[in-house]
Amino acid sequence: MDEAALATHGLTHYFNAFRALDDVSIKVRRGSITGLIGPNGAGKTTLFNAITGGLRPGRGKVTLAGLDVTGQTPDRLFASGLGRTFQIPRPFSRMSVLENLMLVPLSQIGERLGGPFLSRHAMRVQECTIREHALEVLDFMTLAPLADHPAGKISGGQMKLLELARVLMGDPQVILLDEPAAGVNPTLTGTLIEKIEELNRQGKTFLIIEHDMDFVMRHCDPIIALAQGRVVFEGTAAEAQADPVLLDAYLGA
Ligand code: ADP
Repeated sequence: MDEAALATHGLTHYFNAFRALDDVSIKVRRGSITGLIGPNGAGKTTLFNAITGGLRPGRGKVTLAGLDVTGQTPDRLFASGLGRTFQIPRPFSRMSVLENLMLVPLSQIGERLGGPFLSRHAMRVQECTIREHALEVLDFMTLAPLADHPAGKISGGQMKLLELARVLMGDPQVILLDEPAAGVNPTLTGTLIEKIEELNRQGKTFLIIEHDMDFVMRHCDPIIALAQGRVVFEGTAAEAQADPVLLDAYLGA
């Protein structure tokens, strides 16, 4: 079996004449929590978008467990086991926290079970199952007490937990997190890390964009650094800490 849960092969992308991704080949090892770092404008979000289907790369390939998934829509990728959170959470603000979770899989699961041809009874059964699953996921993410709160009224940190909870509804094997710790208080960051590590122990693979170097050095291994659209470093946290270019650019040495 391919040991890379996710890989990119020579991804190159231009915005007009500007090369945002330049021959980016990375491997995200199955079962790893891989950190993706780099200064603003390095191409991290563009890489996430090219992997998760928001952007069709000009050149190159994306593989998920060895299968070519280049250019597939985010919905299809989600159904294939690739989940992604955004830097700025995007919940449906007026809906409750629970409803936000229940929305996620309807299209996916409906598709798997036969979509428009489901009987009314099958739909009811499906809805109950989804509700139960959503409550379990909320419980796991410590959000159960907020199940009936409008999603727009919870704190920024709780919204980040909600984002991850929504992703978990699809039971993805590979999860991409875009700055999970940004703007989150230390207590909720602690909860988030605990959950990421627990999910990782259950076998889920993570690729995480994060600016908080303490977070990256403690919890991510290996670490990949991008600068000006190119991979400039790939190695362990210890190697990153000893790399003069990275030290200078990111670690404030
Ligand atoms: P990062 O996430 O590392 O901060 P981005 O991937 O957001 O970097 O951006 C990489 C470069 O591509 C930046 O210079 C940015 O201005 C440019 N860029 C990103 N998206 C677009 C776009 N839709 N159109 C034009 N330029 C873009």
